[in-house]
Amino acid sequence: SKAQLFEKGTRVNITFSDVAGLDEAKQEVMEIVDFLKNPKKYTALGGKIPKGALLVGPPGTGKTLLAKAMAGEAQVPFFSMSGSDFVELFVGVGASRVRDLFKQAREKAPCVIFIDEIDAIGRARGRNAIMSNDERENTLNQLLVEMDGFGTDSGIIILAATNRPDVLDSALLRPGRFDRQISIDRPDVKGREAIFKVHLKPIKISQTLDIHKLAEQTPGFAGADIANVCNEAALIAARKGKEAVDMSDFQDAIDRVIGGLEKKNKIIL
Ligand code: ATP
Repeated sequence: SKAQLFEKGTRVNITFSDVAGLDEAKQEVMEIVDFLKNPKKYTALGGKIPKGALLVGPPGTGKTLLAKAMAGEAQVPFFSMSGSDFVELFVGVGASRVRDLFKQAREKAPCVIFIDEIDAIGRARGRNAIMSNDERENTLNQLLVEMDGFGTDSGIIILAATNRPDVLDSALLRPGRFDRQISIDRPDVKGREAIFKVHLKPIKISQTLDIHKLAEQTPGFAGADIANVCNEAALIAARKGKEAVDMSDFQDAIDRVIGGLEKKNKIIL
């Protein structure tokens, strides 16, 4: 429901082991976890701890998952909101929701705030957007005010996700705001194999299943698509009354997911 626009400081039990591939991105996020855990170690020599980072990459590649894992690894509460949730709001509500979110986060710090689809509120001024420009600008301005308002030792780290960094208002990317970018790409064959392994864990698979082959047969798939394939394959095998999910079930599931992706792309075009 839209009544609650953000996830309020929940504890998460997702860790880096749930995030497959993305080794470089994980490395960078690990450094940020260390800022949260040992702020004094860094400020001792006069350094300023970054306030946040922008996760940049296509949909379904694990940006939300990585942000949650960061909170899980640091064992701190996770707050999240999505830029697109602000699209339907009345004038003034967006800004007050942002204020509310940061107020609660300050009370629960150290913590992680995750803003998904930040481009929905952080588009460069004057470009056509879904939200009315005034309302979007109010929301964006409040976000900038909040980010500037807390010190780097406050124990709040903000991660934001986008697949359109090119449309973001440059004010968001200034030093002291989202001055770090972490790119999250679609997985290569090795990454896909690792992601398959994570999502095959709960599934009863046949001993003859060739995971490497599955990775080879799914070029262009994001992590979310692979999760989808694993689930579909289990349902297909179950419908056929099988004891374990085998290669042919995965082949059918891959075809089905490719069909779905093609449909989605047609609508976008
Ligand atoms: P969006 O931009 O659409 O919000 P996202 O990049 O935030 O997408 P997630 O929501 O993190 O993507 O990914 C969706 C699901 O896909 C995850 O919950 C997970 O099940 C699976 N997934 C995606 N990437 C990975 C990965 N690298 N390792 C394991 N699972 C993954």
